[in-house]
Amino acid sequence: MGLPPLRSLVLLHFGDDPAPLAPGRVWPDPPRPARSDAGAGIHRAQNERLCSGHFPDRVPVGEPPSGSARHGPLLDGTDVRVREAHREPATEAQTCFKGSVVKDKVPIVILGGGVGGLAVGWFLLRTGRYEVTVVERDQVIGGHCGSFVYDGFTLDHGPHKIYSVIPGVLDEIRTLMSGRLIEHKKRHSIYLNGRLLSYPLEMGNLARVLGPRHFAGLGMSYGISILKRLLPHTDPSSYEEYVVRRFGRGVYELVFEPLAWKVWGDPAILHPDMARTRIPSAGAGDLILTLLHLKQASSDTNAETFYYPRRGFGDLPQTMADYIAKRGGHILVNSQAIRLNRSDASITSVTIRSNGAIRTLPCRFLVSSLPLSLLGGLVYGEGDEDFVRTVGSLRFRHLVLVYVFINQPRILDDHWVFFPEREFLFSRVSEQKLMNVELGPPDRTVLCCDFTASEGDEVWSLTDDELATRCVSGLVKAGFVSAKDVQHCLVKRSENFYPVYDRSYEQSMKAVSEKLHGTENLLTTGRIGMYNYNNSDHCVDMGRFIADRLAKGASPPVIWTELERRVRSYRIVD
Ligand SMILES: Cc1cc2nc3c(=O)[nH]c(=O)nc-3n(C[C@H](O)[C@H](O)[C@H](O)COP(=O)(O)OP(=O)(O)OC[C@H]3O[C@@H](n4cnc5c(N)ncnc54)[C@H](O)[C@@H]3O)c2cc1C
Repeated sequence: MGLPPLRSLVLLHFGDDPAPLAPGRVWPDPPRPARSDAGAGIHRAQNERLCSGHFPDRVPVGEPPSGSARHGPLLDGTDVRVREAHREPATEAQTCFKGSVVKDKVPIVILGGGVGGLAVGWFLLRTGRYEVTVVERDQVIGGHCGSFVYDGFTLDHGPHKIYSVIPGVLDEIRTLMSGRLIEHKKRHSIYLNGRLLSYPLEMGNLARVLGPRHFAGLGMSYGISILKRLLPHTDPSSYEEYVVRRFGRGVYELVFEPLAWKVWGDPAILHPDMARTRIPSAGAGDLILTLLHLKQASSDTNAETFYYPRRGFGDLPQTMADYIAKRGGHILVNSQAIRLNRSDASITSVTIRSNGAIRTLPCRFLVSSLPLSLLGGLVYGEGDEDFVRTVGSLRFRHLVLVYVFINQPRILDDHWVFFPEREFLFSRVSEQKLMNVELGPPDRTVLCCDFTASEGDEVWSLTDDELATRCVSGLVKAGFVSAKDVQHCLVKRSENFYPVYDRSYEQSMKAVSEKLHGTENLLTTGRIGMYNYNNSDHCVDMGRFIADRLAKGASPPVIWTELERRVRSYRIVD
């Protein structure tokens, strides 16, 4: 088998969490117009105003017109006010816990009302055997999949779409949402060397952007990587090694390395699982066939379409919550577990503070989607230094979202635009109105810049004003907006939401889960609860799996072990 033609270099993708993805669609069908000029994907009306505006030294942050809620950090008290001001009236099930245990039903308490926790409640109640209570710290349910209303827009916490390759999961979601999903043909692009390129990259575009020498260099290093893969080799020991072997050093340095730095930090110390999750790996043979156009890229690596809830992504968790309420489940907002009461190796009840009052909820099983450190504190107290140290070694990055409110009806053509280059603070830009034009007023729009940061690093230390100013100047530089059209910005920060698989994470995770397995009736789920880099469809899968296995009589430690194996196979599909 010969080497693939150079145009196979075009087969790079980026994920929904801002991270690179796998080979995918070979040549789009129908082909998308090449867009190699900077800002060519931007509306003409916008381009006409480029560079004509004065860029303010300081972008007003969180100063929306009167009547709007104030901005604030995600999930803290301020943000609660934002969302409280706009949430739907609470249902009876959301506000009132009756404290009774329904006869013959098994009481289960679920900690956390994001999609992770809600999905467990949804599937448990479907069996008709359980009395479910969800305990949510915030004033509203949904977590990072929730939407909020701000200055006339319904906004998500960064760009969210629904797609899944896990058998049956998409059908479950479609049935639950009964006709309230919009199907979109996916459009992604990447901003490189001052140009906006459509994805998958096309050879012609890439060659024009990089110039012949750089392009030939990439081709050479890619060819070498293909040859090396055909020779016997050991498993890669880092993200860097994994990607270099797969795409060659040239492509790694152009795209994957800078993007990895932005999302997770130094790629040389990242575990190869980080790449495996974000860069699904067909075998070398499959890859070459795909590159030679003898085999179509599968929907496992590249989704051509995706779904979006018409009323905003938050309609997904809201519909799960409605299902729970309708089936007699309880959802307690503004509530937190303060103590787990035990008998030997089991938790018998959970003491919570709910709207200021102390209550005790009996439970046969406890399912947690809380951070493992928080759960560990509840289970073992702060005194278990070994556990605290091990769980503390599981690293996270924080999420930053900067929403830029703009006096233009629309800006982008693509659902996501990726920015791997370091001169831009953000790693991705998205526009809410592209998901559903009805989610904002006709004459204005919002661009959302998303990126990550680490505790104490330069980015996290910036003030909200500085973050907003850096994002706006990046958008102006890319030709997306004219500064005079920028009205104001909203900054949201969410701590510890991006698990970072470093080289020791497997060992730490093993120690943490072995310790927690000691509690006989405890399970964890969700993105942070499982320390698993995942999407909402994976949370739905976990909920379904847990409910199914419990209903079949499996014990939580057994289910947990199976679940850990299952989540290791999750891949984020673009
Ligand atoms: C920028 C970005 C883009 C994404 N894009 C997509 C996408 O396109 N498609 C997709 O499917 N997924 C996407 N995801 C991933 C998705 O957001 C997560 O998989 C999902 O939100 C995880 O849900 P969860 O319930 O595990 O966690 P969370 O959403 O964080 O929910 C946890 C809940 O627990 C509550 N809580 C915390 N502490 C306590 C406590 N002590 N007591 C009680 N409650 C507590 C929180 O308030 C929260 O409601 C994206 C994520 C990001 C950041």
